[in-house]
Formats: sequence, structure tokens, C-alpha cells
Amino acid sequence: MSFENLGLSPFLLRALKEQGYENPTPIQTQAIPLALAGHDLMAGAQTGTGKTAAFGLPLLQHLGTSPQVVNGQRKPRALILAPTRELAVQVHDSLRDYSKYLRIPSTTIYGGAGMGPQQDALRRGVDLIVATPGRLIDHMDRRNVDLSGIEILVLDEADRMLDMGFLPAIKRILGKLPKQNRQTLLFSATFADSIKQLAQEFMVEPKHIQVTPSNTVADTIAHRVHPVDGTRKRELLLHILAADSRKQTLVFGRTKHGCDKLTKFLEQSGIKAAAIHGNKSQGARIRALKDFKAGRINVLVATDIAARGIDIDQLPTVINFDLPMVAEDYVHRIGRTGRNGSQGEAISLVAQDEAKLLRAITRMLKRDVEIRDVAGFEPMRPIRWGNDNPPNERPGGNNAPRRANTARRPHSDAPRHAHAGPKQRTGGGAHPSGGQRDGARSPNPYRQGARPAR
Ligand code: AMP
Repeated sequence: MSFENLGLSPFLLRALKEQGYENPTPIQTQAIPLALAGHDLMAGAQTGTGKTAAFGLPLLQHLGTSPQVVNGQRKPRALILAPTRELAVQVHDSLRDYSKYLRIPSTTIYGGAGMGPQQDALRRGVDLIVATPGRLIDHMDRRNVDLSGIEILVLDEADRMLDMGFLPAIKRILGKLPKQNRQTLLFSATFADSIKQLAQEFMVEPKHIQVTPSNTVADTIAHRVHPVDGTRKRELLLHILAADSRKQTLVFGRTKHGCDKLTKFLEQSGIKAAAIHGNKSQGARIRALKDFKAGRINVLVATDIAARGIDIDQLPTVINFDLPMVAEDYVHRIGRTGRNGSQGEAISLVAQDEAKLLRAITRMLKRDVEIRDVAGFEPMRPIRWGNDNPPNERPGGNNAPRRANTARRPHSDAPRHAHAGPKQRTGGGAHPSGGQRDGARSPNPYRQGARPAR
């Protein structure tokens, strides 16, 4: 299957070629013809599947080829809702690349930035808005935006938007859109009842497509957490990497700047490393990936978003230098190891201010995570992990994340866990209400704009 066969216009095909896209991904092959034919879509696809182009290309084709019916004032014609500022910006950037040869005025609307410039852009008039729900509501309340001309609505990462508590905002926004002649494309990694309900209320005979593997992680991956003081993470990483300098390792950092600094540090320490993130040119990213695949560099330091496009089949080790702010990103990160039944390990360096994030991850994984100090790198003060389970359900009476929400492993695994964590030290400070105690210091992943720019 080629992009030409999907019915896309030459303007888009040319831009795709320049992006280096040769063939459509499975979600694109399924979604594009249906969306071009005007159907509503419920698409099961997570990040990394090419979902942005799957909804973006038909949307742009519609805007670029069917003229707007203008009765007086120009109104936005397409709206994409995304859970976070970063995703909104990334989607907007991608759509700008795809629509290079079309003239489609567009803007992004998100929280954590001034209202003024966004208001100006809306006043100037745009065809396409990519927005986070909360800030769009702010603009609606100030009458900065008129959504009565929306022809296409996309809900991107709908499950995450609902997880973040955006359902009321989404419903309010939906209430302002035209009911007739509107196409709705809903993309989500998972389909909880709340999403199905939303679809029932606001979509018309949607077509269902699915490419998402379930949110499960290969059984062959060992999850290991090394507690460490934040200030000593770099040293610990170096210590781990130096143990086998030939091993190919993907290291995840949270911010672009952090990845750059870390890469520099590793290089200065004699490790062949490169960073890939959103500030690197496409050429630099491709080069880094090529060098990594060829073994010319051993460590690739990546942000979540940059890593999405990484096509690496099999890696023995993924290291989370920083834990991801959103638990699902952990699954995406380590999806690159343990494939096809091979063994893999996911190592996370976790400081006190990440304890809450670790709890969210273990809850989502429903699986054991081994917590083990590395000799010489024990945290100065035992980490308080907090706890969601009643104390008597905590094996050993501490370290909740180790077994949060999960059945005990077969006995043969016991030795691994017998060594896990410093017996009294790590969990010694565990507190049944540790969640609240830690809460004040932990960043809140569910606040709009809380994820640092990557
Ligand atoms: P997404 O799932 O939309 O975030 O896309 C993941 C990554 O895949 C992005 O870096 C896209 O630029 C890239 N991508 C999307 N579709 C294709 C394609 N057909 N061929 C090559 N790369 C693609």
C-alpha cells in the first residue's frame, strides 16, 4: 500500500515525500480512506503508530480542497483537542509539515502561556485550531473563539484527556460545535466505558479501527528500580553503563536540556553517546539513530516524544534516568526491549521526588518491580515510597511499589526479590499515608501543562 493509493492530494503527497514517509503505517492505511470518505472514526492507536498523520492528512485534505462556506466572518473549520501542551504543539508542528504546500492558517491554544498572543491569532482568523481543552474553554468564556463553524473535530489521546479530568470541558466544547455535518475522529489507546459513552453521545455511526497492542508489557522484561539521590543520578548511570560499555542502551530523560547535559557528561566520561529530542534537526536525529544502530554509539539519550519515531527492533536495556510524568509513557519507553520473547531489562533511577510517579507506574503495570540499592549509591535518606495498599498487604511491611496491585510471583522468582531493596532502610520511612506526604513535593502529572517542555 502506498500513500498514492489512499486518495491523498498531490500537495500532501509531495510534503510526505519530503518528510521521508515512504509507506503509510497500518493505522494510516485504515484510517485515511475512511476519514476521507467522511465517516466518523473510533481509532485504537497509541503514540508511535503514526496516528497524527492518520487523522491529520484527511483533515488537511478537507481543509485544503473543500472551500469554506463563508457567511460573513471567517470561523475555524477544524479543531483538534489534545491532552497536553506538548502533544498539541507536536501535532501542530506535524500538520504544518504535512500542509507545507497548502495554505491553511492555524494556531495552537494551550495553558501555561499568555492569553494575548493566542487571542490575537484567533482574531486574525484561522482554519485549524489545535488546543488543550482547559485553555480553549478560557477562550470560549471570553468569546475569543466561535466554534460554530467546525466541520471536523479530532479527539487525540481521548483516554488521557479523560484521565486528566477533561470530560466536563470536552462536553462543554462539544456542546458548542455544530451538530449537523460534523465529522468526529476519536483516537485513543484504550476504550474505557467513559469513552464509549462519549462516542455514543457525540458521534454518528463511527467506524471502528484498531492497531493498538493492549497496554501490556512483555513478560520477559525485568523491571528494576535503583533508589538514588537526585544529585547522584548521573554518577549512578555512568556506573551502570560502564559495567558493559559495548551494550546498546536507550536512556530516557524528561527534558531536552536535561538530555543534552546528560549526553555531554557521558561523552566526557568516555561513553559514546548522542541525544535525540525535538530541538535536534531531523537530519541530526536520523544520523544519531543510524550511528546507534550501527554500534558507533552505545547510548542514545532521548525524550519521550523524540523516541516515538525511533524504530529499533530490539534492545537489551532501557534506562529511565527520569521517570516519565505519565505512567503510560513508561510502557512506550520500555516497549523497545523484551520484544519477541527475548529478555530485556528496564532500569529506573528513582529519587524521592519521583516516588509518586513510580506508584502510578506500578499500579498501571500490575506487576512486580524490584527495588534494589546499588552499593555506594544508596540515598542519603531512605526513600519514602508512600503506599496505596493497606499496610498488612505490603510484603515485608514496606516498599509498596514493589508489589502494588499484583499477585505474588512464582516462588522461583523469590531470590530476586529477597535482595530487593535495603530491608529496613528503604522502606523504613514508609507511611500508610505516604501518598499525601509525598504529594506536596511530587509534580502533578495530571495538571494541564505540568509536563515540562521536551
Ligand atoms: P505519531 O504516532 O503520530 O506520534 O508518529 C510517530 C512518528 O512516526 C513521528 O515521528 C512521525 O513523524 C513518524 N511517522 C508517522 N507516519 C509515518 C510514515 N508513514 N512513515 C514514516 N514515519 C512516519
